[in-house]
Formats: sequence, C-alpha cells, structure tokens
Amino acid sequence: MAILVVEDSEVTRRVLLGQLKSSGFPDSVEAESGEAALALLGIDPSQRRTRSASPGSGIDLVLLDIVLPDMDGIEVCRRIRSSPELADLPILMVTAVGQDEQLEAAFEAGAWDYITKPTSQVVLGARIRQALRLKNETEERKAREESLVVAQRRLEDVNSALSMQAASDALTGIANRRKADDHLVREYRRSAREGLPISIVMADIDYFKQYNDHFGHPAGDECLRSVAGVLSAHVFRAPDLVARYGGEEFMVILPNTDETGARHIAERLRHGVLSLRIVHPKNLAGSYISISVGVTTETPKRNGDPTSLIEACDRALYSAKAGGRNCVRHSADEDTWISLDLSSDPNP
Ligand code: GH3
Ligand code: MG
Ligand code: MG
Ligand code: MG
Repeated sequence: MAILVVEDSEVTRRVLLGQLKSSGFPDSVEAESGEAALALLGIDPSQRRTRSASPGSGIDLVLLDIVLPDMDGIEVCRRIRSSPELADLPILMVTAVGQDEQLEAAFEAGAWDYITKPTSQVVLGARIRQALRLKNETEERKAREESLVVAQRRLEDVNSALSMQAASDALTGIANRRKADDHLVREYRRSAREGLPISIVMADIDYFKQYNDHFGHPAGDECLRSVAGVLSAHVFRAPDLVARYGGEEFMVILPNTDETGARHIAERLRHGVLSLRIVHPKNLAGSYISISVGVTTETPKRNGDPTSLIEACDRALYSAKAGGRNCVRHSADEDTWISLDLSSDPNP
C-alpha cells in the first residue's frame, strides 16, 4: 500500500509522512514537484503518456498539494487522469484555507477529495481509508462488468452457433429445408416488390435407394455429402441458396434469375454431379451418380406465396424422372410433357 505525497514544503511533507505512518500507512513515496510526481507515476511530462511498463508504479493513492513550484497540483491531476491506466487512481488534494477556487478546478481535473492544511491525523486517515474503499469497490464493479461482458459475448456465440445449427443440415452442412423455406418466402416477396423473376431448382438423385442397397448406408451418406458440395460449388450469386430439402432431394433458390438463366444453371448442376464420377452400377440412367432436375420460374405477384412455385417445380422433377432421369425439365414446357410422360411410370 504506497501513497505518493506531492508537497514542495519540506516541513509539511515531514508532517504528512508522520501522520500517514501513525495512521497505518508506512509506505509513502515523496515528490517535491509536479514533474517529480509524474515521473514517479511513470508519466512522461512532455508527451503526456504513461511510459513505464507498470503505470502508477505501485502507487495506490496520491496526496497532492495544490500549489507547487513548477506546475500546479491541478495540472498534475489533469495529466494523471489523461493516462487511461490511472483513471481510477485516487487523488486527494491538500489545500490551505481560502483556496476554494483552485479546489473547484482540481475537482474538475479529477480529484476525488481534499484535506485542508494544517492536516489532522484523524481526518487524513479517515479520508484515505474512505478513498481506498471506494477504489476497491470501483475495481470490483469493473471486474464484475467485464466478466458480464465476457459471459454476454459467450452467450451470443452460443446463440449464433445454435441458429446456424437450426438452419443447417447435419449430414451435409448445407442449408436445411427450414432454412430453404424461410429463404424462399423472403426472396419470393422481394422479387414481387422489385418485379423480378425468381427460379427454383429441385434435384433428386437417381436410383439412390439402389445405391444404398448396393454400397451400404455410410457410402450413401458420403455420396450425399459429395453431391451437396458439388451443387454448392456450382452456384455463385450471394442470394442463391442450395439446401438439402429431404432425403436425396436438393433445392436451389435462384432469385433474380429468368427462365434461360435457370435452365442454364440446372444443366450446370446436372453436369457437376456427373463430373463427380461416383460409380453407380444400378443407375439405369448412366454409369455414375446422376440427378433428375425440375426447374420453374415465376415473376411473383404481390401478396402471393411460393406454394405454386414449389408445386410446378415438383411436377417438372416428376416429369424429368418419368422422362428417363438424368435430365432437366422446366415447367414452362409442361404442355409437351403429356405426350412424353403420361404412359411412363416414374418409379419403375
Ligand atoms: P428415383 O430415381 O426415382 O429418385 O429413385 P430413388 O431410389 O432415388 O428414390 P426413392 O425415393 O425410392 O429412394 C430414396 C432413397 O434415398 C431412400 C433412402 O435409401 C435414400 N436416403 C434418403 N435419405 C438418406 C440419407 O440420409 N442417407 C442415405 N445413405 N440414404 C438416404
Ligand atoms: Mg505548496
Ligand atoms: Mg431419388
Ligand atoms: Mg426422392
């Protein structure tokens, strides 16, 4: 517990040091000028910065004479306060009677309390103990606030991890159906407001049950992860979303994408999956894992909802299955499917 006594009068300094010792504060440090005091606190008087590695140099409280030969106590007080590390260092001014104006300035500069000369040992001891108690309480409160901030940050991290989990598919790590539904509603409404087209793609792995039956479930899971990865890698724009919509079915949401663009992307996705070259001996539509793809495009009306979009896309996917799989069908061509698909069973 070290107290810095800043006082230019040798006699007063001796008195103060004696009173401090008798009050139970034997470890005092003396300074007879403002500059000497700042140096002891590790503050560079010219640069107004704390220069020591341990600001304050172990000093717990400052007794500061208001009138000093070089810079006055008010300026010393201001410079201590301008060092962030010393913002809470208690400073008690030592004043003579009739120095009220300076005292006011000292309080403005950051002094905590004052004591008048000639000092009384009882008052000095009481004021110091009170200041130190306040300092401890302030430090404890700050520590509590800091740990609260840390806890709050941790909670936010957990919350964002949880909402990420809630929105993503555990097996593949891409968006899940819930996320896809939310995203679709939001983008559908935005498209309606902006009068822009929106397209969706549904992709379903061909003969995937047979793949599982042939290679086993773990291999099936690995295949799903690969397909999810390649679909994601083939969609580039920020508002686009690739989601696992269910089992071996994926949805791709393509805001601000017209029919031509959507057909193009759907073909790109189909080729992307083929390029994985995952051998699938039971695929009647090719030698490798393939997808059948339904696509639909709509410029939404205000107050509409995406149900019709999903239904149209489902029909297109069904038609792609019925039409031989490993192909793309756009709902705009629905008129031509009847002759193509009616007689065929989509799940032979
Ligand atoms: P189609 O060409 O008509 O789409 O035939 P399919 O066999 O792919 O379709 P079907 O709906 O009959 O079977 C889907 C299969 O997908 C059933 C199941 O074995 C497989 N599947 C669904 N979810 C998972 C999963 O999480 N992991 C694995 N390994 N397989 C899954
Ligand atoms: Mg003096
Ligand atoms: Mg399938
Ligand atoms: Mg399916």
